[in-house]
Amino acid sequence: MGYRRPMQLSRFPRRRYTPHPTPLERLDNLTRHLGGPDIWIKRDDLLGLAAGGNKTRKLEFLVADALAQGADTLVTVGAPQSNHCRLTLAAAAKEGLKCRLVLEERVPGSYRPDASGNNLLFDLMGVESTTLVKAGTDLAAAMAAILDDLARAGRRGYAIPGGGSNPLGALGYAACAQETMTQAFDQGVAFDSIVVASGSAGTHAGLLVGLAALNAGAPLIGVNVRRPRAEQEGNVFALAEQTAAFVGLPGIVTREMVTARDEWVGPGYSLPTPEMVEAVRLLARLEGVLLDPVYSGKAMAGLIGLVRQGAFKRGETILFVHTGGAPALYAYQRDLQA
Ligand SMILES: *Cc1c(COP(=O)(O)O)cnc(C)c1O
Repeated sequence: MGYRRPMQLSRFPRRRYTPHPTPLERLDNLTRHLGGPDIWIKRDDLLGLAAGGNKTRKLEFLVADALAQGADTLVTVGAPQSNHCRLTLAAAAKEGLKCRLVLEERVPGSYRPDASGNNLLFDLMGVESTTLVKAGTDLAAAMAAILDDLARAGRRGYAIPGGGSNPLGALGYAACAQETMTQAFDQGVAFDSIVVASGSAGTHAGLLVGLAALNAGAPLIGVNVRRPRAEQEGNVFALAEQTAAFVGLPGIVTREMVTARDEWVGPGYSLPTPEMVEAVRLLARLEGVLLDPVYSGKAMAGLIGLVRQGAFKRGETILFVHTGGAPALYAYQRDLQA
């Protein structure tokens, strides 16, 4: 292959919400418990903003763009317990912006105004409004209507797509790939495979672009939380292609690099599975690490399932990217108790 320009992500305006790299650690007890490959974790549950998680990295680029455009209000969309909505609101608070949220009731009848978790946090951080819409609503149109309302009041809104998953947001995870590979070099560890939750696809797509740009040579295995495999792989590939072009490396990600396993979705998005409950309880007891019921719990269930299937060999080193989400645990107390 000919000469390739590296990514230079410092060309893109960025706010900083985490003043240090997140820890990269070996999970000694989980590794021993499973008796298979060495398992490491990238602690993106320890990112900045209010109980940070993967959305914090995306928001560093998205909010910088909102500020450059003179926005006074961030507008976004997510499920009622969305980490993305919570962190967008936290970023707005920190930047002195207002925030309006569209909440999509993805599981009909599931919205409980008295539920713990985000309802409390939205109030504490001073959300300007929340609008509840049914599954299948045109979310872009719902956000556009809010931008129109704001414009009529002489204000300027900035719409962030669900999960912050557009090429600009995905840069956050191209940056995470760089950060992780630098740490891996410092710590003298090389990864044979990397496992991550795959939802609105920005995290998965951004990591793919970053790993490909670095020629890391470690396959990335996405674990779906919502969609069938083929559909999700199509979404991830499309966003990875756009993101690669955006950083000046068109074509760097090929379709064969995209894997999004769907065996751990269970009955549907955000609905508990026995494998998720096992994974959440296991990581809490063995490592003092809190996963979440919707994303990282199912992704870890996938990693554990793959180890048990013999997909990884003893002597291999597997990295789990912990995308955060623990505040949602409190809305799932009954499902998680033994
Ligand atoms: C949003 C989210 C994910 C999935 O990331 P995407 O970029 O939407 O695919 C994983 N884990 C947590 C905790 C999340 O909030």
